[in-house]
Amino acid sequence: MIKSFIRRILGKKPHTTKKTRLQRIPVSQHGLTRVQILPCALKVTDTLQQAGFSAFVVGGAVRDLLLSKTPKDFDVATNATPEQVRDLFRRSRIIGRRFRLVHVMCGGDTIEVSTFRASAVTEEDDSSHVTDDTGRIVRDNVFGDQESDAERRDFTVNALYYDPSTEEIWDYRGGVADIKRKTLRIIGDPATRYREDPVRMLRAARFAAKLDFHIDETTRAPIAELAELLTNVPPSRLFDEMLKLLLSGHALRAVHQLRAEGLHQGMLPMLDSILEQDEGKRFITAALHNTDQRLQAGKSVSPAFLFASLLWHELQIHYQKRLDAGEIPAPALFAAMDDTLDHQRARLAVPRRLDGMMKEIWSLQSRYDQRSGSRPYRLLGHPRFRAGYDFLLLRAESGEVDQELADWWTTFQEADETQRAAMLIKEPASSKPKRRRRTKKPNPAPQATND
Ligand code: ATP
Ligand code: MG
Repeated sequence: MIKSFIRRILGKKPHTTKKTRLQRIPVSQHGLTRVQILPCALKVTDTLQQAGFSAFVVGGAVRDLLLSKTPKDFDVATNATPEQVRDLFRRSRIIGRRFRLVHVMCGGDTIEVSTFRASAVTEEDDSSHVTDDTGRIVRDNVFGDQESDAERRDFTVNALYYDPSTEEIWDYRGGVADIKRKTLRIIGDPATRYREDPVRMLRAARFAAKLDFHIDETTRAPIAELAELLTNVPPSRLFDEMLKLLLSGHALRAVHQLRAEGLHQGMLPMLDSILEQDEGKRFITAALHNTDQRLQAGKSVSPAFLFASLLWHELQIHYQKRLDAGEIPAPALFAAMDDTLDHQRARLAVPRRLDGMMKEIWSLQSRYDQRSGSRPYRLLGHPRFRAGYDFLLLRAESGEVDQELADWWTTFQEADETQRAAMLIKEPASSKPKRRRRTKKPNPAPQATND
């Protein structure tokens, strides 16, 4: 009943655009000054303006600076065409197909310059906006004026234009007020905007978590019903968005937000079972918390490590299935890795270039159990030792292995030769240790094959 009510309300409502009322907000009211803008972005806006074009810093940078956060990047919007932009900057190139824009480089910085776009939603019959049969926009290269550019942006807080020469903010949609209210509000009719680009639902979850904003009720309402549209999005684009979410510095909160909105189903369906199962929940929580902390401390995070963590429990399930079917542990483990990755790739395309490192991290795990003879030394010299060790720490933190094991490796790494020799665990003089059958958990890398 509620669903049909929502459909009635949202489905029938024509996408009449609320009359935009441009407010030009002076620096005395918003406080964002020119010196806060990256010099490379200033160079781009100044050059464009001197050539007679209009040019603004737009999007996340304006939003983040108003919130006293450090912007991830600076984007510029202009009425110059991509070719005109390219002709003004020696170090620049046109990129993109779905959305053509120009990258301008200065020093180590890159500024993304986009030409004002026409608002797609009001021009359904215009063949230049190509949509598929669910209403998803597959190409969007029609240029328009600044007002229509503001219309086709996703959220009001992302549709703010800052002119560095006047230090004014041009606000068409009340974005400055929404920033003050800490509210994420989509521009236009929510259902239509999500149909055009289902990724906007993921972006809602990401921004709410990253900015600690509340999602406006009208913006949130259709998400649960439309979440399945994410299955129409190319898996590679889903991966890019998911990676942005996981690397936002607020992954833990964002993943919980995804679940709360029912958005994880299409991408990381295992999140449900993992988060319900106690040990799995502790593992994912530890992994995401660790990622957030690293990023907040300015350290790097490897996407392979991240996805190895997110898929760890999935791997165990596939591995156990193969063991139950009587397969030999070593090949079963590697086959289970492929099962896990293939299964995942159908929904969200984790790029194949990450496979090697993920598999190494997984297959190294059982080698940390081996603390006698020359094996610990050989493991220490393995190029992925550190990643494998960090992964082991997460397993210890979630209670999957004894903390004592993780501590042993922490000490062993830092110890000198004599201390290391004293730490080795003595093997019984008899024969080789027999592999023990595990009763509780599959050991993800059978020992006999690792050395
Ligand atoms: P951040 O870079 O911090 O993740 P951002 O808001 O800058 O956040 P980008 O993905 O860099 O996000 O996009 C820049 C701007 O382009 C956004 O602020 C928004 O105005 C617009 N935009 C990006 N993706 C979409 C989309 N899917 N639909 C509509 N507008 C979008
Ligand atoms: Mg950005």
